[in-house]
Amino acid sequence: MRRCAFLLSTTLYFSMFAHAEQHGIQVGDLDRNADPCTDFFQYSNGTWRAQNPIPAYMDRWSRRWEAGEKAKDQLKVILDDVSSRTDWPRGSVEQLVGDYYGSCMDEARVNKLGITPAQPALRDIEAMKDGRDLQKMIFRLHQLGIFVPFGLVSASDNHNPSQTIANIFASGLGLPDRDYYLKTEPRFQEAREKYLVHVENMFKLAGYEDANAKAAAKTVFELEKKLAENSLDNVALRDPQQTDHKTSFADLKKMVPTFEWDTYFSAANIPGVDLNVSEPKFMAEVDRQLRETSLFDWKTYLKWQLLHGQAGVLSDAFVNENFAFYGAYLSGAKELKPRWKRCAESTDQLLGEALGKKYVEKYFPEEAKARAQVMVSNILSAMHDTIEGLEWMSPETKKKALEKLSTFNPKIGYPDKWKDYSSIPLNRESFWNNEEAAAKWNVEKDSWALIGKPTDRGRWGMTPPTSNAYYNPLLNEIVFPAAILQPPAFDVNAVDAVNYGSIGVVMGHEISHGFDDQGAQFDAQGRLNNWWTADDLKRFQSRTACVAHQFDNYFIEPNIHHNGKLVLGESIGDLAGAKIAYLAFQKAKQQHAQPTLDGFTPDQQFFIAWGQWRGDEIRPASQRKMVQGDPHPIAKYRVIGPLSNLPEFSTAFSCKQGSAMVRAAADRCEVW
Ligand SMILES: [Zn+2]
Repeated sequence: MRRCAFLLSTTLYFSMFAHAEQHGIQVGDLDRNADPCTDFFQYSNGTWRAQNPIPAYMDRWSRRWEAGEKAKDQLKVILDDVSSRTDWPRGSVEQLVGDYYGSCMDEARVNKLGITPAQPALRDIEAMKDGRDLQKMIFRLHQLGIFVPFGLVSASDNHNPSQTIANIFASGLGLPDRDYYLKTEPRFQEAREKYLVHVENMFKLAGYEDANAKAAAKTVFELEKKLAENSLDNVALRDPQQTDHKTSFADLKKMVPTFEWDTYFSAANIPGVDLNVSEPKFMAEVDRQLRETSLFDWKTYLKWQLLHGQAGVLSDAFVNENFAFYGAYLSGAKELKPRWKRCAESTDQLLGEALGKKYVEKYFPEEAKARAQVMVSNILSAMHDTIEGLEWMSPETKKKALEKLSTFNPKIGYPDKWKDYSSIPLNRESFWNNEEAAAKWNVEKDSWALIGKPTDRGRWGMTPPTSNAYYNPLLNEIVFPAAILQPPAFDVNAVDAVNYGSIGVVMGHEISHGFDDQGAQFDAQGRLNNWWTADDLKRFQSRTACVAHQFDNYFIEPNIHHNGKLVLGESIGDLAGAKIAYLAFQKAKQQHAQPTLDGFTPDQQFFIAWGQWRGDEIRPASQRKMVQGDPHPIAKYRVIGPLSNLPEFSTAFSCKQGSAMVRAAADRCEVW
């Protein structure tokens, strides 16, 4: 659970203003040899995929991912500019971003230093004398965002979201999730063998002799396996009831008695108030391991986690070994990303609202923000009409659903108030030190310092240069960073069919997350609190079961198919999102006449826009990893899945009953 890679997006913005004609769907991307009623994924973007192979450093590719890489080109313009000078005022956005990025780009220095920057911490781990030292070292790693074997961050209280509390969560695994340690299929066995070799290689790079490195890798694996055995699986982790364990500080001390919580909380400057423990069973295992695992083995484990967490900050040898396992083997990429892209991503992860401020100034005009706000409000209104018109829901539950919809808080583009990073001591001298200082600020000042205080509803969980969006059920907010509000997803010069069919469906998707199998468990105030009558809840669950069943039957290889329960929330989001974006588009059509394009009706263009924005080509390894652990279905099924349930789609393309893209009436899913 280290920092996750954010996905950036946009195309060159000036194209939006350069010419006045309206942009439409990409007719050249269509595969006209395919039948839209048989395989709409292939039909809508097959030619583009055939002509645009996945770049060596990527694991999937489409116009959407291409736009993400173009956003990095835009960030590079900003980063090259601010890092070309060293005389910015201290604490300014330019100094912070320029020094961080500049030190990251100093590859010669990073390579010359090799393992040296990690040595003080490795020596301190080696020097630990007892359990108290071990706990101090766990705290020190947490300060750097290396949350092992568990983590502690701020979170809104499930039962009173206006208050921010501590959330203690399970972590500490080097493989993607628990199943990789436990499942017996050959592909998981192979992943374990490759993982052991990777851990061994990292120890060798850190100076271990061959035999010791091999033994150390085994030690790491055995400890992680015990943690994995006591962790929730990916499906259980999506169930808010299973991770909701409000606990008093006194009870935490009883639950995990070996850990000295008073010391930790006081060092972290966190008040000992009520908190949440996501996985009590896991924490009981941590307690057992603190008592039973030898100090020698803990030293090995913490050294590995330090090297693993900081591999990207060390010399090429570490970077390449890390890529060989996580990038090439697990994700299928052929090449490491160029250094400048990795440095741009890392700057965004640690200083995202400083870089984001510059990005928004240069690439996100107010006009785009205003237009996006109008679209969100039109799609919220389509959701309102949809809820009102539901035949299966009682008036009592409808009232609650509408109440929840009325409290939605849309956030568009960038935060009203920017984070102030000026206290972070950054300079050009050491990438390692900069990384530590920035990571520490993000943990201490941007997470721990919020615990025990009223929730700040102005905060953002994604940075403006992130090409993505999210729904947060506790704050009932839908959030669209500037970088996703860019062509081809959103273009102030595009026809409505393109905007509603791409970003409109994304907006509908995020709104629908408020009413998916997870979101529907949170009320208008963001509390984990049932607002459904028993009968309506039963009817809702049988409707969502239809979607889970549908995705259970989507295969990527013989014997490997989606796990319907894992991808349920995202699939409900796509299904309802496409429906309400379509309804909002119908209203737009009444207001402005919509052009036909190359013989395609406006409704056909709407669906093609979704197929062209959402569909992608993905490497087989990446696809396997997604199907195992990602709550998102692969893009092919995010096109085929929802559209094959929508009668509006089959009408638009005059598809016959019995076509692959028209699910039979008895199998057709409709949740909202
Ligand atoms: Zn989603």
